[in-house]
Amino acid sequence: MSTTRQDLLQAFDTLLQPARFKDYGPNGLQVEGKAEVGKIVSGVTASRALIEAAIAARADAIFVHHGLFWRGQDGRVTGWMKQRLALLLAHDINLYAYHLPLDAHPELGNNAQLGVQLGLAVSGRFGEQDLGFVGALADGGQFADAAALAAHVGKVLDRPVTQAGPAQAAIKNIAWCTGGAQGYFEAAIAAGADAFITGEISEPQAHYAREMGVAFIACGHHASERYGAPAVAAHVAGQLGLAHEFIDIDNPA
Ligand SMILES: [Zn+2]
Repeated sequence: MSTTRQDLLQAFDTLLQPARFKDYGPNGLQVEGKAEVGKIVSGVTASRALIEAAIAARADAIFVHHGLFWRGQDGRVTGWMKQRLALLLAHDINLYAYHLPLDAHPELGNNAQLGVQLGLAVSGRFGEQDLGFVGALADGGQFADAAALAAHVGKVLDRPVTQAGPAQAAIKNIAWCTGGAQGYFEAAIAAGADAFITGEISEPQAHYAREMGVAFIACGHHASERYGAPAVAAHVAGQLGLAHEFIDIDNPA
């Protein structure tokens, strides 16, 4: 089965509603390829490695969280940008990218899907554009301390995590926001969280964690955002009868 480039765009837009967001780059079709799409490859970032893997997998479209174009770029098609675009254009592959709309989708987005992975039930949202999620363990339990939560996150995501904050305090209310959301920590504290989970930590958050008595867990930008793109792409591929494959290009950050 196949669909058209435009119908696929329509399906992603209907699901993710990009018009509702103020974002750092264009959401939707970023690079136009062939008119008919039979197979989608999803991934976290439109890196050259993902594009090459998608070519090898005979994809007609790539669906990612991190596309090619961001506010603040100078617009030159040189270096890595030239290489990535050249591959996409030479193979006539469509590139669809959704940034904040993919973080935010209440069931299939990065935050919702990370919550599922970690066994968390969502009780509310917080922060700018409601991107942050709050909740607790779906089984009603709690973590004895920040180290126990950090161990759980590290085990689920299969990578080392960075932990800051109080050594001995039980953790029940958990806030999270995937990717580079360390700037949401204060909003998470204001939302009543005992711990905040995101991808990255910067220097100030370690101090805030100690001083406010709220644990901060950084589990990797890439690792925290591995689940939304395949969930959305699989959903839309199912709707339209397309083939779909998620390709994870590992990233230590
Ligand atoms: Zn990200």
